Amino acid sequence: MINNIRLRRTGWIPTLGVLTVVAVASVTAPAYAADSDGPADPDITVAPMRTGSACIGSARDSTSRSPVDGGEIRWTQSSKYDDARKKANKAWTSNGLGQVEIKGDSWATSNDLHWKDKNKKDGALATWTMYGSFGATDTIEMNDYYLKSGRPGPFDKPYYRRGAAAHELGHALGLCHKDQNYGLSIMGPSGRYLPDTKPTRRDRNDYHKLWGN
Ligand SMILES: [Zn+2]
Repeated sequence: MINNIRLRRTGWIPTLGVLTVVAVASVTAPAYAADSDGPADPDITVAPMRTGSACIGSARDSTSRSPVDGGEIRWTQSSKYDDARKKANKAWTSNGLGQVEIKGDSWATSNDLHWKDKNKKDGALATWTMYGSFGATDTIEMNDYYLKSGRPGPFDKPYYRRGAAAHELGHALGLCHKDQNYGLSIMGPSGRYLPDTKPTRRDRNDYHKLWGN
């Protein structure tokens, strides 16, 4: 079923989640900012799942590329796209997921992830940034430049905000950018490939490999 979802055809496509790794010198930040086109035909029927890693480039799904500690992500937020954050949280904690709890920060816990906005013509709908040192707070930045109401389309819509938020939260859960030829994924690097605002079967499988069942 998932394999037959028709991908949306849109015009110019910003990328998703330009991963910036700060304070971890040994990790190279993938540079997808220049990806404005993607594979030739976005309207392909995605082929049956291949085996092996579907990660693009040298990145791999990893629990160490994640702010999860003690089995949870504690978050704070100052973003105007809180609806998208809520949907993203729900997407990654339902339908069999939820091994990692995603909960609001409190005085007794350390903040793992902060949601905020930016306004930059940087080619990314949203960005997850991992700060490598222990106890640091990672960020997800939603980009007004593309997502804010009234911006030239098509990304100034709830559909894309939610998809971008879910994609970035997937990064925070340790997931890398995925090659869509291995099965449709919300972790594709381009906004063009947002299949839905929810993790696909492939994404759920990848999640369970990292965080159990
Ligand atoms: Zn990304």
